[in-house]
Amino acid sequence: MGLKENIQEIQSRIEKAAARSGRQATDITLVAVSKTVDLDKVRMAYELGLRNFGENRVQELQQKMAGLPEASWHMIGRLQSNKIKDVVGQVKLIHSLDRWKLAEDLEKRGQQAGLEVPVLIEVNISGEKQKAGFPASEVKALLESAGQFKSLRIYGFMTMAPLTGQAELSRPIFRELSDMKQQLSKKSYTNVELKHLSMGMSDDFEVAIEEGASIVRIGTALFRIKDRVEG
Ligand SMILES: *Cc1c(COP(=O)(O)O)cnc(C)c1O
Repeated sequence: MGLKENIQEIQSRIEKAAARSGRQATDITLVAVSKTVDLDKVRMAYELGLRNFGENRVQELQQKMAGLPEASWHMIGRLQSNKIKDVVGQVKLIHSLDRWKLAEDLEKRGQQAGLEVPVLIEVNISGEKQKAGFPASEVKALLESAGQFKSLRIYGFMTMAPLTGQAELSRPIFRELSDMKQQLSKKSYTNVELKHLSMGMSDDFEVAIEEGASIVRIGTALFRIKDRVEG
């Protein structure tokens, strides 16, 4: 199967999972994770209709953005404070606001540049020690403090389930984030609009959509071209 077939297959699986959650494929944004993928192939994916691409390293993100500026780019990986200026104003959405200091630094840069900085709060639902993200217990306090921001805008949450290769094991994690969004949506917070849940990758995006994901981040399943097994 080639790239075109991969895209078609993923889109059809997104459509079916969306239907199971009472939604349409157009309610779900597919972010094609293009890390380590050659620019030529990324461009081909754009020509085949994909519009949103995600990268987890700033340097690679910058190279890809320069090569394909007509696409919408998403920063999905850990963002070091000294790389902020290369990202603010350049990307459509930062999915990985994972610590208080980064919120302060993004806010500062946004003010300097006179730009809005759209972010998702990365939440470490699974509680794994090595994993980035706010503990679930701190999220409410962050939303409450958002009123003081002039540039930072919070549009929802992102999480990564533990890598198990088994989609069903991700379900409780996705459900917890979805419940959290529902709970916190009951109150309104200044500079906060909880419209997005970025969750689900190649191995578990259908489960994520069933649990309410509005953005899925898919790399391997799109870009890995399966070899034909012969003989
Ligand atoms: C690499 C990556 C993905 C995509 O993972 P696949 O399993 O290749 O689909 C999604 N989100 C983040 C943050 C990543 O770093």
